[in-house]
Amino acid sequence: MTILEVSCVSKSFGGLNALSDVNLNVEEGTVHALIGPNGAGKSTLLNVLTGLLRPDKGEVIFDGRALRNVSPHEINQRGIAKVFQTPAVFGELTLLENVTIPALAARDGAFKANLFKTDRSLKDVHAVGEEVLCDVGLQDQMHEQARYLSRGDKRRLELALCLAHRPRLMLLDEPTAGMSRHETERTIDLLKKISSRGVTKVIVEHDMSVVFALSDTITVLAQGQVIAEGGPDAVRGNPKVIEAYLGE
Ligand code: ADP
Ligand code: MG
Repeated sequence: MTILEVSCVSKSFGGLNALSDVNLNVEEGTVHALIGPNGAGKSTLLNVLTGLLRPDKGEVIFDGRALRNVSPHEINQRGIAKVFQTPAVFGELTLLENVTIPALAARDGAFKANLFKTDRSLKDVHAVGEEVLCDVGLQDQMHEQARYLSRGDKRRLELALCLAHRPRLMLLDEPTAGMSRHETERTIDLLKKISSRGVTKVIVEHDMSVVFALSDTITVLAQGQVIAEGGPDAVRGNPKVIEAYLGE
């Protein structure tokens, strides 16, 4: 089943066409990579999917419903969550408190997510919090303040924050950027584990070893246009892709 359908989406900034008539279908339960040179429009496309940017033209359909005029908050409630880097982490709070916030937002709605005023039990949201911390291997540090985490562990906490929303579609923009080889490999394992639970993912990634290890389908963007799409083997051998990106 197709969970996400992007049809003829265009977005320009001033005179620059960041996305031109982009089409993309993402199948439920798969990992779909977006690759391409710098400035290809990858991050712009993810921002259109979260509702942060509105396309000039075209349509995005998630789970059978159009996202036109839907607020970023509502899109999040419908099940699309992007992994945000560090600013979303509260250093003074424990890891469990950090993941409880999105878990509570997913349960009660973001505007009611006030840890200190909720009139409902926190038992179930704490259970979600503990589970997602286990998923990313941070259960032993659950009661420590987030500010003491190493950089790699902070990135894992960001993944846990995203998972705590219980998303159906997870968006990741360069999840291994700045990581050492060892950390990158740990992240690949982690993302594979999450995939095996059926969470659909769209992942923007520069590191081809990550892309080829994780993806079911790869879409190649260059200058705002889709230039190729297919499984890892087909994309790897595509002359247009080699010219525009892999051979650079
Ligand atoms: P990628 O993530 O593939 O590197 P981006 O989506 O960030 O590419 O950017 C695509 C193009 O749009 C680039 O030329 C970039 O400079 C431009 N761009 C992105 N965001 C903005 C913005 N908010 N205002 C103006 N230009 C932008
Ligand atoms: Mg980018």
